[in-house]
Amino acid sequence: MPVTHGTPLTDFPGVGEARAKKLEKLGLTTAGDLLAWYPRDYEDRRKVYTIAQAPLEGRVCIAAMAAEHPRLSRVRKGLELVQIKVVDDTGALHLTFFNQSYLERAIQAGEEYIFFGGVEAQGRRRTMVNPIFERADKQSFTGRIMPVYRLTAGISNHMLASLVRQALPCAEEIPETLPQHIRQAHRLAAMEFSVKNIHFPENEEALALARRRLAFEELFYLAVGLSFLKDRRDRGETGLSIPLRPPEEFLALLPFAPTQAQRRVMEETAADMASSRPMNRLVQGDVGSGKTAVAAYAGWLCVKGGCQAALMAPTEVLAEQHFRSLSALLAPAGVRVGLLTGSMTAAEKKKARTALAEGEIDFVVGTHALISEGVAFRRLALIVADEQHRFGVAQRAALAAKGGEGSAPHVLVMSATPIPRTLALIIYGDLDVSVIDQLPPGRVPIATYVVREDKRQRMYGFVRRQAAEGRQAYIICPAVEDNPDAALPGEESPALNLKAVKTYAEKLRQEVFPDLRVGILHGKMKPKEKEAAMAAFSSGQTQVLVATTVVEVGVDVPNASLIIIENADRFGLSQLHQLRGRVGRGQHPSHCVLITATRSLEAMERLRTLASTTDGFKIAEEDLKARGPGDFFGNRQHGLPQMKLADLAGDMRLLSEAQEAAKELLERDPQLSAPEDRPVLDRVRRLFADTPDIFN
Ligand code: ADP
Ligand code: MG
Repeated sequence: MPVTHGTPLTDFPGVGEARAKKLEKLGLTTAGDLLAWYPRDYEDRRKVYTIAQAPLEGRVCIAAMAAEHPRLSRVRKGLELVQIKVVDDTGALHLTFFNQSYLERAIQAGEEYIFFGGVEAQGRRRTMVNPIFERADKQSFTGRIMPVYRLTAGISNHMLASLVRQALPCAEEIPETLPQHIRQAHRLAAMEFSVKNIHFPENEEALALARRRLAFEELFYLAVGLSFLKDRRDRGETGLSIPLRPPEEFLALLPFAPTQAQRRVMEETAADMASSRPMNRLVQGDVGSGKTAVAAYAGWLCVKGGCQAALMAPTEVLAEQHFRSLSALLAPAGVRVGLLTGSMTAAEKKKARTALAEGEIDFVVGTHALISEGVAFRRLALIVADEQHRFGVAQRAALAAKGGEGSAPHVLVMSATPIPRTLALIIYGDLDVSVIDQLPPGRVPIATYVVREDKRQRMYGFVRRQAAEGRQAYIICPAVEDNPDAALPGEESPALNLKAVKTYAEKLRQEVFPDLRVGILHGKMKPKEKEAAMAAFSSGQTQVLVATTVVEVGVDVPNASLIIIENADRFGLSQLHQLRGRVGRGQHPSHCVLITATRSLEAMERLRTLASTTDGFKIAEEDLKARGPGDFFGNRQHGLPQMKLADLAGDMRLLSEAQEAAKELLERDPQLSAPEDRPVLDRVRRLFADTPDIFN
């Protein structure tokens, strides 16, 4: 089959309708899509071990001969085993395959194979479950550096890798978009070479060259786009000047005395807003450092100055919570706080919109609905974006347009994700950064434990004791529902034995905590149900909340003193740190339990890092080191277009090189109108598709 860029995946052998659907979930429908689906990691399968020497950690290649004919047995309905003994000069290895009965005929006694999988020892007996294998004389997935892809349920890495391999020849069709002079000046590999080697690198050097070129390219387009954006901002917009006023009146509303750090950031914010240059400030503060009080202060100042303020939260749960707490805090000062979220009824939304347009709401809290639903303000002076990592450049641009008549609103972005200052400056250019580097007094550090399955019962006992003391607990699961496509033990699949909120909560209610009030919360619930579940937990009505990561950011229930995270190895370190930040928000000693069944040493190491420190910066650094390129500083974190390969923190050198190149190009051809620069403009347009107006 001659594969071209546009060949639909359904034309590939082995891809039927069902599989095509699953691939589509990843956005993969053509051969070209496969080529652009860069690996998230690599697995070095070049070293081949003997049975005796193979380590028991990680997955390894073993060369061995099938010593017998495979034995097929039916254990029960729906469970078939194929078992076979394989041998080499050093010993024997016992293989078990689940539900792959065709293997009975696929493995020939006396034939030499390479088996790839995790070796386990049962006494002196060595075993391997569901290995990948191929004949030793026809190696294509072993004996080399293999790509590791992001997957979806029902699509294994092996399957995806073999599809990519079949699509590889059409890499030659991919047009070269980087102008020739830039490629030469920066010694960048050609497109075809880079695409081939990013998937199936010939060796480390080839991989490094490929990665450098593709990452450079991403950073280059990013830099070009950002400089368009910045140009636009620099074209002299003015903001509404908010007069300074003594903070005492505001501080009297707070139930606590602000920390030094909070005071400082409040002052910086007030000074910014007093000037007629629109504020563009990022407030970084670790989880629990008290960013909300700063937001409340800025909003209060605006309203007292006769203007409106808006606070945008990344989730409905968080918006509701901010709405409740800001109403309680600011209503006594005469501030009218309103709510606008996508899930409100049409009538409710209409009412809120009218109130905003007429100036009857002073301080509105909402989700993205605030920018997307044609909301007009009477006199908007400030936008606060809480937990900024889902609030992007695009949204900032869209909101900036809401100030009306030549005035751009002040923008305050709050984030618990520490971005090194230098990096923030590169990314945001003229952004000012404030850091809340102090936690409120009296916080007891959260004790964190990494726990294996065998401690599960003890852990349940701990939940019960906390509840008996009047405390509450979160239990976080990585999935909402049991996945019918879930893989069997040992199979390569992301859905492996993950705890799912629905069934797990049911089990907890019936078998484990029949005496406790257990609530559930996940993203698939109706907004009203979510709201009710969150309210019940906030008020202490539910004692245990089984939830997905919807509670990841911002949720604040000071009485919760315990968070248990199931399948903890499934989460990134920074994400775990955020989740852990849900407890330890009051004066109660708090605990975080990370449950894992992982076999990976590396994963254990990461979890132990988390257990050993509560320093968000340190954790972010570790996270950067440990995770695949692009992930940490991906779209989620700062709202910039998604980088597939480039790592904005790790590739600082490359980033400044790309910026240099972008600058040179734009100096020569500011509108990118020369024929050879047109492809650059097209690419930048696509990258910033959410921000069309940056090109005006
Ligand atoms: P985050 O920075 O994670 O958004 P929050 O603003 O939600 O943190 O504050 C965390 C908790 O600490 C809240 O319950 C808040 O009321 C409380 N808090 C904030 N500042 C102080 C302070 N200066 N003293 C005591 N408690 C505070
Ligand atoms: Mg917060």
